[in-house]
Amino acid sequence: MPGSQRHGPLIARLVDAVGAAHVLTDDAVTKGYRTDWTGRWEGVTTAVVRPGSTAEVAEVVRACAGAGVPLVPQGGNTGLVGGSIPLDGEVVLSLRRLDTVESVDPVGRTLTAGAGVTVSTAQDAAASVGLMLGIDLAARESATLGGVVATNAGGLRVVRHGTTRTQLLGIEAVLADGSVLSRLSGLPKDNVGYDLVGLLAGSEGTLGVVTKVLMRLVTPPAHVQVAMVGVPSLAAAVEVLAGVRQAGLTVEAAEYFHAAGLSLVRSRLGLRAPFLDDHATYVLVETSGASEEDVVAGLGPLVGDGVVEPGPGGRLWAYREGHAEAVNAEAVALGSPAVKLDVAVPIPRHAAFEAALRDRVGALLPDITVITFGHLAEGNSHVNLLGVPVARADEATDIVLRLVVEHGGSISAEHGVGRAKRPWMELTRSAVDVATMLAVKRAFDPRGMLSPGVLLP
Ligand SMILES: Cc1cc2nc3c(=O)[nH]c(=O)nc-3n(C[C@H](O)[C@H](O)[C@H](O)COP(=O)(O)OP(=O)(O)OC[C@H]3O[C@@H](n4cnc5c(N)ncnc54)[C@H](O)[C@@H]3O)c2cc1C
Repeated sequence: MPGSQRHGPLIARLVDAVGAAHVLTDDAVTKGYRTDWTGRWEGVTTAVVRPGSTAEVAEVVRACAGAGVPLVPQGGNTGLVGGSIPLDGEVVLSLRRLDTVESVDPVGRTLTAGAGVTVSTAQDAAASVGLMLGIDLAARESATLGGVVATNAGGLRVVRHGTTRTQLLGIEAVLADGSVLSRLSGLPKDNVGYDLVGLLAGSEGTLGVVTKVLMRLVTPPAHVQVAMVGVPSLAAAVEVLAGVRQAGLTVEAAEYFHAAGLSLVRSRLGLRAPFLDDHATYVLVETSGASEEDVVAGLGPLVGDGVVEPGPGGRLWAYREGHAEAVNAEAVALGSPAVKLDVAVPIPRHAAFEAALRDRVGALLPDITVITFGHLAEGNSHVNLLGVPVARADEATDIVLRLVVEHGGSISAEHGVGRAKRPWMELTRSAVDVATMLAVKRAFDPRGMLSPGVLLP
């Protein structure tokens, strides 16, 4: 029997809570909510529910709890670890209708907005008062504030402003029993008890449903220069960035990619080569407050080829930002989803890690293509393995993640654990650590109603 019929009384209660137009049960209509961005996970759902207010979210959570049907919160569904996908008939609780920017305060330098506001809308709102959101990522048009908070997203500005958690001043969230936790004072100093705001950041929908956020805003950078250079290796790229920082330049972003990724991006987007000569590795560095001459001097002697443009430098950024989509398109063309892993290692070991990665993966699966790119200042590699037979995806994942641990790294740099990395949690978290997280989970959600199977065993 289809889930919507089996759960008739629940569906009726959900319709009462949010209106029939916002309870979706037709398989064709719910497909986009049941399938992840990469196509690696496609689930089944009792219903997709689209509440329009915090009170409606609370009512939906109470209804699901009453019926004993778990739910999965979802924002823009751009997460890359399967955390927003219902695999076992869970209700999908879409927060996208909470899309109001409530206030932008240029004096307190804060933005208060519903969880469904996209990153790009929040960026525009901040810009309207001459300020900037300290978070940016290529998925900005679809990713929501609730989603970036729930995943503690990193992105392009971590080197300058930190991860999302450091930009989050307050939160409103509906807890598993339907009660509403609200900490929205935004006081810079407020040491009363546990940091529940920080705890909800990065909780991947397992501790509460984020309905509203209070974000810190920052001063936009002035005199921005975007430099792209070609270098002989990742080791050289790491040295170039170290030199730029040593020269005292303020780094707003620092990214890297390799020749194989550039080639995919160019053919997908129809871009011409950035330089006359090809290079093994490319670095994109955005600086502020310095002249073009200072930036050129800071880039140093390792550079084979280079170009510096005044910001925003969209033409140069396109080479880096096109990677995720180009890899996805190539995977579709090959007929098997890419194995996508987001990992971080200590910066001095980054180049050795990537070299070992190519060796180990190449020994296991000689015919696959390895594309890596990512955030240079955090030793953060987005590892994409193309052409891996689906039946061997876990084996390839295991090799990469164990190698990360050998290099003193983290199996999840910024995308979270979701469903994808859960079996490997114990590689970088001790038994005591996991047990403590489980105790926190039980305190917030004793019946396991929120995102079962995500993040924790
Ligand atoms: C092209 C591309 C580029 C990307 N670049 C980056 C990058 O640079 N850095 C980075 O960190 N990530 C990146 N990502 C991954 C993704 O965009 C982020 O993880 C983002 O934070 C997800 O936001 P979302 O609204 O799409 O959340 P979803 O995908 O809908 O959900 C992600 C997780 O958060 C939970 N969740 C969502 N909303 C809520 C809520 N309101 N309350 C509670 N839980 C919630 C879900 O249950 C799920 O576990 C990229 C993705 C793409 C497709």
